[in-house]
Amino acid sequence: MLCPFCDSDIKDRTIIYNDYARVFPSNRAIGPCHLLITPLRHVALWDALTPEEQAAIFDLLKKIKLTLKEAYSAEGFNIAWNEGVVAGQSVPHFHLHVIPRRTGDTGITEYDPRNFLYRPEKWKELSNQTLVEIKQRLQKD
Ligand SMILES: [Zn+2]
Repeated sequence: MLCPFCDSDIKDRTIIYNDYARVFPSNRAIGPCHLLITPLRHVALWDALTPEEQAAIFDLLKKIKLTLKEAYSAEGFNIAWNEGVVAGQSVPHFHLHVIPRRTGDTGITEYDPRNFLYRPEKWKELSNQTLVEIKQRLQKD
């Protein structure tokens, strides 16, 4: 199966890398300097990565944020991954999105996942009782 992140072209646009992961610009950027961090190994899900690979991804995240602050004058970031097809993961190779933000950005200027990840008409503030019930459900073994 063809994987765009295992494609050799990725090497040409790799900005930084370490033993387990690399950073490169997204070819479907939602903003200037939208970058992706991927493990070198073809692994779809975060939980399938080794602790070394997970640490390598966060190490690159820390470094690329500094680079984006210096080279792009980034003042903030949107950092996220989609896990599973149901959550919008379109490439079955783990990738962490890093989107630098600056004051006066065009495009998404008021980032709030509730505005576009969920159906706004379904969103309402939950009662404390409902929140406690969720807590109890998730604390069960
Ligand atoms: Zn791959």
